[in-house]
Parts: sequence; structure tokens; C-alpha cells
Amino acid sequence: MNDLLKLDIFFPGELLSITSVDHEDSSIHIKMRSKTHSSKCPECGQETETYHGTYLRKVQDLPILGKTARLHITAHEYVCNNESCSKVTFAEDFDGFLSYYGRMTERCADFICMLAMETSCEGCARICHAMNLQISGDSVIRLLTRRYRLQPVSECGSAIGVDDFAFKKRHTYGTIIVDQATHRPVAILDGRDGMTVSCNP
Ligand SMILES: [Zn+2]
Repeated sequence: MNDLLKLDIFFPGELLSITSVDHEDSSIHIKMRSKTHSSKCPECGQETETYHGTYLRKVQDLPILGKTARLHITAHEYVCNNESCSKVTFAEDFDGFLSYYGRMTERCADFICMLAMETSCEGCARICHAMNLQISGDSVIRLLTRRYRLQPVSECGSAIGVDDFAFKKRHTYGTIIVDQATHRPVAILDGRDGMTVSCNP
């Protein structure tokens, strides 16, 4: 079966190689190992080839033919050799395919963010669930929040959308403001009642 669908063309072949593929009723498990020999320190940006060890990363990717896609990646840890850097060891990232601590691939996160901006965070989670992409509404908004904080502050148009969310499950609620024209977040506010929005012009 595996010969019919060449899964390796869907992954960055210079960084990762597939070692096995297992099927379950509603999920596909793809085991892969890192092929890297160097990585850039996330703190100082210096390249290092000093290998420290391996660890197993479990991340979700876009569903494959309606099945949840789980990647089990044997990834590398490296040592930062920059003496003025606070990092001693760090986990590699995979150059736009997977970030350092992401629990899903970047293309999976891109899709979820786009869907959330076009619908709502809860609507996005329901559509994802129907596609066997496992994410909760609160996790959608945390993903948006993390990405928003990495973006430069943007101008806001005349129409906005407002949605509330929990920073942590059932605790500490916040409000996200989205520019309806660009579908980009323009503000994250603490609290979720009417006062929160009226007190944060
Ligand atoms: Zn460093």
C-alpha cells in the first residue's frame, strides 16, 4: 500500500526521512527521523554542529484522506557554542516546517488560523473536528494569540469582529478583536465582558 502513495514527497526530504507508516481506524501514524547535521540557536542565531542527543516529538499534521495525521519525529538536540548566549542546549526546528515547540506543523497551524479568521474560533474547531483535525476552540485562539504577538502592530479598519476565549481551560478569559477587512487580529484584551471592550479604545 505504501508504495502507491509516496508520502515522502509531502515532507521536506532534506530534513526528514520516513521510517514507517501505521494505520488505525481514524488516524495515520508516520514515524520519521531527522537528517540534520547542524541547527541555528533560537536565542542567538549562531549555527552549531555540536550534537547533544535525540528526543521524540509528537506533532499533528494536516489530515490525510480524512484521517488524523500524527508525526512521531526522532529529532536532534544541539549545543549552542556561543559563550555569551544563555542557551546551553536546544531542540532543532525544521526550517518553516515545524517550529521549536509547536505541537503541529506550520502548514497545519496556517490552515487553522485562516479558517478561524474566516469563521470563528469555535466554528473552526468544529470544522476541524469533522475533518479529524484535533483541536479545541480555546487552542485555536491560543494559536492565534501566539501568532498575533509575533506580528507588527497593524492599523485597524472601520469594521471589527469580537470573540472571547480562555487563556487556560475554563480560567482567565480574554477577548480578541479582529479587523473584518483583513481578517487579522488587531488586539488581545484581558477579560471578556462589555467593560473590557469599552475600556480599551
Ligand atoms: Zn545561542
